[in-house]
Amino acid sequence: MRITATGISDVGRVREGNEDAYLVADSVFAVADGMGGHVAGEVAASTALEPIRALDGRVFSDSDAAADALRTAVVEANETVSRMAADEPSYRGMGTTLTAAMLEGQRLHVAHVGDSRAYLLRGGRFSQLTDDHTLVQHLIDEGQITREEAASHPQRSIITRAIGVSPDVDVDSLTFELQPGDAVLLCSDGLTGVVDDLQIAEVLADGADAEAALRRLVRIANDAGGPDNITAVLLRFDDPDADGRPAAPRTVSIRTQDDAVGSDWAGKLGTVGSFGASTSVLRRERVDDEVETAGFGRLVLRALAIVVGIVVLVGLLVAGGRFLLNQTYFIGLEDQEVVIYQGIDVQVGPFDLKRVVERTDIHLDEVPAWYHPTLEAGRPAADINDARRIVQGIPRRDDTS
Ligand code: MN
Repeated sequence: MRITATGISDVGRVREGNEDAYLVADSVFAVADGMGGHVAGEVAASTALEPIRALDGRVFSDSDAAADALRTAVVEANETVSRMAADEPSYRGMGTTLTAAMLEGQRLHVAHVGDSRAYLLRGGRFSQLTDDHTLVQHLIDEGQITREEAASHPQRSIITRAIGVSPDVDVDSLTFELQPGDAVLLCSDGLTGVVDDLQIAEVLADGADAEAALRRLVRIANDAGGPDNITAVLLRFDDPDADGRPAAPRTVSIRTQDDAVGSDWAGKLGTVGSFGASTSVLRRERVDDEVETAGFGRLVLRALAIVVGIVVLVGLLVAGGRFLLNQTYFIGLEDQEVVIYQGIDVQVGPFDLKRVVERTDIHLDEVPAWYHPTLEAGRPAADINDARRIVQGIPRRDDTS
């Protein structure tokens, strides 16, 4: 089977950085959608691709060995990313999806964790090969919500499995025999979150070359707002012995993943398996309407926490500080009049930490200029009686003239 592979990745219209990554080699291909913050997300995604890349060109004794090797590479990716996340504080909480495909003879092996998808376009039928590891997919499986409800569900960005979140990971995998004319698309949710299956299928089926098709998919996602990084790898297979390429079908029909993977592909195409153990929940930092709302909620909570923190701090300062302030006096000025203050000459936000306790009827004009700076700066006193003594000792113009 001859393969033509093309990859594309676009930052989208909202994100500042691109935390997606993809791999296009000779026999291995993958898409990873990193998360956990700007740099960490990129590190998680690119790190996860390395064990997959290491399989490129490997020859296997049989199909099972090949499938095992691909799953093992995904497990390895999980071990490496989770170890880095645990060891390096700035990588804490990072993770990534990983959807990988490996060509082995006439077969394609697919392994995945997360919600980056693999689709197969064959003979005008477009099928999702992978199950999303998302909360909404779980709710669909449980019959609690419909697929239509899932598309706009506020928690649709929550994924239930990811690479790097825990030392153990469940890997889903499947293997199927390729047919000439098959096209396989690996893509991140930046595409599938905003472009529906029918649109994707139409673009892939219209016979344009791979790069043009991928550019069109990115453009459609960006026209829909481009809320997330958009990444896709398109694999096209044909028979090198056949005369020319099979004509691409012009019309397509969509099959949902329920009848695709659940009941059909497992039997028809090969095996759907699970590998490893453990499930973890990770919230995707996806910038779209729903998550902005959730993000706004978190912002409000954070602001509330800060305000509560400040109030508590000021309360402690005032309660603890009052003792100190009550024993502190100084002579200063209020509207050109000499007064005795209690407290200290400091303003903390709205809180004035001093108050006038006695007036003197001495106007600044009556005080010689050389003493003005002392009053302006505040002349400390040990207590109220000391303050009164100081006031009586303040020089007057009359005294010096
Ligand atoms: Mn994404």
